[in-house]
Amino acid sequence: MSDIENVVIVGSGPAGYTAALYASRANLNPVLIEGELNPEHHVDVPGGQLMITTDVENYPGFPEGVKGPDLMDKMRAQAERFGTRVETGWVDRVDFSRRPLRLWIGEREIATKSVIVATGAGANWLGIPSETELRKTGYVSACATCDGALPHFRNKHVAVVGGGDSAAEEATFLTKFASQVSLIHRRDHLRASKIMQDRVLGNPKIRPVWNSEVVEVLDVEKRKVTGLRLKDTKNGASRVFACEGLFLAIGHTPNTAFLKGRLELDLKGYVVVTQGSRTSVEGVFAGGDCVDHVYKQAVTAAGMGCMAAIDAERWLEGHS
Ligand code: NAP
Repeated sequence: MSDIENVVIVGSGPAGYTAALYASRANLNPVLIEGELNPEHHVDVPGGQLMITTDVENYPGFPEGVKGPDLMDKMRAQAERFGTRVETGWVDRVDFSRRPLRLWIGEREIATKSVIVATGAGANWLGIPSETELRKTGYVSACATCDGALPHFRNKHVAVVGGGDSAAEEATFLTKFASQVSLIHRRDHLRASKIMQDRVLGNPKIRPVWNSEVVEVLDVEKRKVTGLRLKDTKNGASRVFACEGLFLAIGHTPNTAFLKGRLELDLKGYVVVTQGSRTSVEGVFAGGDCVDHVYKQAVTAAGMGCMAAIDAERWLEGHS
């Protein structure tokens, strides 16, 4: 590795690999940093959220659909073909206050002229103590595609919380293993796309449970899920709902904690960009789910990664 890199790309999802592809084809000899597998949060995996997705049916160019991990393998191979160097580790600290810009993976320091932030987003949790306790036992998960096939969910009644496309997708996926899937949502209608709603509501193994909020996961004492305490969001009534596993699909939070105070973030932690992918710091660009709280698609992330690489290349030309 040279003393000062041209561009360091942080993140290995569609935005990161697309940025790497463009930057390497522009002869910038980029370094891409992919996160390590984090056993605490299996959703933060190298390759990003697509690594824990099953079939991706809406990425153009794959009329039969493509498995998320296969798509990421192809993106990585394409970026490496043009000279991208992939490094593994979590960037836990940055100093963007002086030139060259600096990033640290633990004690290892990397100096660079420009940075592309493409760190994506991670799953949200309810944040109640019983959920945190039972996560440790493996009966509560935020990733059906990672954990749904585990033996303790097979032929069992499991619950999915959420009303978006993720909840619909996870509920449908779980019907392959579970005997019954209850989809618990705090409203009386889903926000998932029409096609996903039709799939879920037409599936005889999925039962929607409307206007319900999980206030406690039972039973911490027994070290496994035996049910949920639900609160009716209309009348406040509480009841116990029997089930044997819980999956959360309640949205995501951008992976930007390490940038707090170093780069302008919005109230929810998304990186603020202007003029394409420019951030509040000269020479730092951002794209993908760490920026985008509206579209959040693999294809839009890839497009934003491309924009960030082109912006970085032009910026480097003007500042060489
Ligand atoms: P989302 O669309 O933001 O939906 C999150 C859901 O969780 C909402 O229904 C929300 O309820 C609920 N929720 C949030 N916080 C909650 C809490 N504390 N307690 C209970 N419920 C809570 O997130 P997503 O489903 O992860 O989807 C994100 C984006 O990815 C979307 O743009 C989606 O289209 C896309 N996506 C696409 C596919 C696909 O096309 N195959 C698959 C997955 C995701 P409210 O409705 O009340 O806000």
